[in-house]
Amino acid sequence: MGNHKLTKGFISCQEAGNICDKSQYKEASFWQRFKLSLHIFWCEKCNAYVKRNSALSKMLKLYSEENCNQHLSETKKTKLEAIIDQNK
Ligand SMILES: [Zn+2]
Repeated sequence: MGNHKLTKGFISCQEAGNICDKSQYKEASFWQRFKLSLHIFWCEKCNAYVKRNSALSKMLKLYSEENCNQHLSETKKTKLEAIIDQNK
């Protein structure tokens, strides 16, 4: 059980929380937000936290409407859409 942190994405829960913060979120790079979405996918605790944060819905819209088209390949878009579906 102790090593599950390694499977929760590339960032710590604390960093995920920081990126979730609305002011930090605006400053976050695309990769920070991408890593946050991965972390949320793996981490139930942060998933629950982020679901209470209105920034999440904005984040998911950004991915689906803007960043996906600009930065992600079709393959990554499909994967990301799957992640977004998991978090609905
Ligand atoms: Zn977490």
